[in-house]
Amino acid sequence: MNKPVLVTAFYPDLISKFKNQTFVIHSKRAEEIRDIYNTITDHNGLFCIDLALNDVLSTLSFDESLEGIPIYLSCKGMGNFRDFLKIKSVLSRLNIKIFFPADAPGNFTEVKILSSLGIKSGIILSPLNNWDLVNDLMVYSVYSKAHHAPIEPFQYAMEHYDPLQLLNLGSLYFNNPAQFLHLDRDENIAISHEKLIRGEFIGKGAGTIKEIHKNPAYLAAVQSWQEYFMKTDGCAYCKSWRVCLGEYYDHSGKNPGCEAFFSDLMDTSENYKKIKQNGR
Ligand code: SF4
Repeated sequence: MNKPVLVTAFYPDLISKFKNQTFVIHSKRAEEIRDIYNTITDHNGLFCIDLALNDVLSTLSFDESLEGIPIYLSCKGMGNFRDFLKIKSVLSRLNIKIFFPADAPGNFTEVKILSSLGIKSGIILSPLNNWDLVNDLMVYSVYSKAHHAPIEPFQYAMEHYDPLQLLNLGSLYFNNPAQFLHLDRDENIAISHEKLIRGEFIGKGAGTIKEIHKNPAYLAAVQSWQEYFMKTDGCAYCKSWRVCLGEYYDHSGKNPGCEAFFSDLMDTSENYKKIKQNGR
């Protein structure tokens, strides 16, 4: 197995205790980006800075000195378009991917605008998405001939889809234990951010990470997808399961469009593969 990437908040003391590890660092403050980058580059690698801001894009300020630093920014939406245009040229030069939540219908149009301006972007899926809007954005992302930057999660799906393997879109959001482990300030380790918050740890410290492939709790977590087949709800019988892993089931039963969307995602991924193979 590949060495897991460690996901944690910005704790310089903690990071300095680890050597030869790759990190995702969560932050809620754009002013921290430079400090995070300077801390992490000595003995460790930086997968990206995961910047989660409770604000709209047009109110943020970035400058060219951040060029080259990998940043995943999630924020509420674009905000005022005129103000956004003032930061657009800086954003185009940064190594940044901008995510908006899919629960606001206007964000689908705004993601398209970012993409058409050459800025990598994406939507954050949830069980309550409007699946028709998600599908429309996928069609635009994969088939539009107009010049545009990649849009997630469709780009990830097109690149990683394999008809014989499971596709875990959680990787895009650092939520896949086969790829990411989550770490708190006391070096406790969990398989997801939610489990870290709840104190459901699988070990502690660098020693655990080194031996993770032998850790029974970790191995059980990586295989936990099998539990879906013991359940009696729709996911156990869903033909789209292998590209969704049951992550988007609306248990209230009010938003049942997930199966149709993920079925289209599989068809589109197959088609995309054929187009690539034929060199078109
Ligand atoms: S697409 Fe299928 S597997 Fe995924 S949440 Fe919906 S019903 Fe469950």
